[in-house]
Amino acid sequence: RASRHEGASIIRTTCPYCGVGCGVLAAPDGKGGVTVTGDPDHPANRGRLCVKGAALGETLATDGRLLAPRINGAEAGWDAALYLIAQRFARTIAMHGPDSVALYVSGQLLTEDYYVANKLMKGFIGSANIDTNSRLCMASSVAGHRRAFGTDTVPGQYEDLELADLVVLVGSNLAWCHPVLHQRLLAAKAARGTKIVVIDPRRTATCEGADLHLALAPGADAHLFNLLLCHLFDRGRSCTDFLPRLTGTDVAVAAARTSRAEDTGLSPADLDGFLALWAGTEKVVTVYSQGINQSDSGTDKVNAILNCHLATGRIGRPGMGPFSVTGQPNAMGGREVGGLANMLACHLDLENPAHRAAVQRFWASPTMAERPGLKAVDMFRAVEDGRIKALWILHTNPAVSMPDADRVARAIASCDFVAVSDAFGSTDTARLAHVLLPATAWGEKDGTVTNSERMMSRQRAFLPAPGQARPDWWQLAQVARRMGFSGFDWTSPAEIFSEYAALSGVAGALGSDFDISGLRGADYEALAPVVWPLAARKGGRFFGDGRFHTPDGRGRMVPVTARLPEATSAEHPFRLNTGRVRDQWHTMTRTGLSSRLSQHLGEPYLEIHPADAARLGLAPAALAEVTSPQGRAILRAMVSDAVAPGHPFAPMHWTGETAPSGRVDALVAAVTDLVSGQPASKSTPVAIRPFSAG
Ligand code: SF4
Repeated sequence: RASRHEGASIIRTTCPYCGVGCGVLAAPDGKGGVTVTGDPDHPANRGRLCVKGAALGETLATDGRLLAPRINGAEAGWDAALYLIAQRFARTIAMHGPDSVALYVSGQLLTEDYYVANKLMKGFIGSANIDTNSRLCMASSVAGHRRAFGTDTVPGQYEDLELADLVVLVGSNLAWCHPVLHQRLLAAKAARGTKIVVIDPRRTATCEGADLHLALAPGADAHLFNLLLCHLFDRGRSCTDFLPRLTGTDVAVAAARTSRAEDTGLSPADLDGFLALWAGTEKVVTVYSQGINQSDSGTDKVNAILNCHLATGRIGRPGMGPFSVTGQPNAMGGREVGGLANMLACHLDLENPAHRAAVQRFWASPTMAERPGLKAVDMFRAVEDGRIKALWILHTNPAVSMPDADRVARAIASCDFVAVSDAFGSTDTARLAHVLLPATAWGEKDGTVTNSERMMSRQRAFLPAPGQARPDWWQLAQVARRMGFSGFDWTSPAEIFSEYAALSGVAGALGSDFDISGLRGADYEALAPVVWPLAARKGGRFFGDGRFHTPDGRGRMVPVTARLPEATSAEHPFRLNTGRVRDQWHTMTRTGLSSRLSQHLGEPYLEIHPADAARLGLAPAALAEVTSPQGRAILRAMVSDAVAPGHPFAPMHWTGETAPSGRVDALVAAVTDLVSGQPASKSTPVAIRPFSAG
């Protein structure tokens, strides 16, 4: 765990922010300070860090940390707090059944935490009511992968962006949201002339390094890729060698023909130029992110992209493939370990009886969830209407970050029993807890995370836990034991990882490619970053060999009938887009501690087109009142032609603590994609007017 660069006092770990998963070297000074630098030996970043990663050392203050368990606001001992959770969960299950309780977890959890939560909920409580805030970030990609490939498997690796001749970024502000991967792409462009095309209704920072920005009509992504699919077949650009490895080609092309060029909002020259460029470049990578996923047709948009790569065989080979980049540091680990309501573990299928039986045998568990549980939005609806009566929230702040956040906060407040595990006791969600458990944070806990390219890396502790803070896996295991369950006796995350690796061997025997059993018994402390599959398979990529994870082994082309967002109303004529800014992370519990990071964009704002601002009488830097059927926010106007008329943008980081009137997720409607359950956070109808204090 110690760096060989500077002696035993430097700890190798992984950045806790985005899904790039950069390796960092942490050098504690012994007085509470820590210097953080990029790990030159980590394959994801080779020493690079973005501004957030570089400021990690400024965000380790323990001010505001929750230092001891609390019951109804009063300090309590661990035993009493854990016993109360176990008792309330057990009593609720006895009275109302296993589906009356739920866990809501986070992509901030380490894989070992996720493993224990999933085992407890699905194998011992017997419900799949465990979902994660990663549902808000990449569930549509998961669903699209499963429809096309048979499993949620990311085909490529980061180096594909460096080996490609053309990189298309669609619905991805890579420069701000995955900065080190963007740095790698720009370096490749400088070295070998990679062409970069950005497809985004907004002119983001990512456009600065691009050859071409296509300001697509908002929501028209599936139309564009449907038109590309038709173009590929009409111009003889599909791959005749690869097509026999696919099913559904004819019906997918027929559905694609319903898309019209005028729906894209692009000029004929721009559209034709893009189609010809993509079709004529073999080494093409299409990177996509929240702009695709966070839509009420997000899964279809994903499949429209995948269809084009499948039809050309441009997948899972060096320098080519579709690439979904994840938002959170361990969103991918949560997917692998089955920490979502509709997944099992190790890429096994919750709805496959043989898979369930194998996992139940391995866990020696008394029961097993037999059907998918409630996804995030539905979970909080069930809290609201009383179907869920006991809820445990770990490491996330849904009272701020869920769409229709005020309604979610009211639902949590009305729940019979709520436990919250968090490093901070004053978040909007923590304030609603009956039992509050102090959790260890980055730098204090040990485990593994998986980044967007399937690379598992260690997070390592280098600071003592403050007060009585304990890791999430320990809290979950202690409650499980108090509920009378066996199989929760680990004494370290290394033991949990070993069990997880052994379970993956069971999965491997059932045909899963997620078999990391070779890591069982490995030196966990010294574990170096490793990409799965461990067995050599075409350079660690998937599907380039034409073998898919479907029952017949063929990839599936999915018919996509593209549609545009519904029209706005006279009452709410604007369509609000939400997202991240470069220097903040989620609800700012960590990045908000760095004054340097707050210098970039220090308060909530509304980016609005000059024509809209003029029509509303909204001066630059004036306050705007934004209302939707769900809520209201007061935001400072940033007048800019980077956004399209009628389509303002607002960042989602500010909370009830940092800007009570700037909570953007209070505006967002809880509309979801029907397949993935992912909320559509980028197209909420809103009204805007100048704010008047009177
Ligand atoms: Fe951390 Fe992401 Fe920045 Fe890397 S790119 S340092 S993982 S925030």
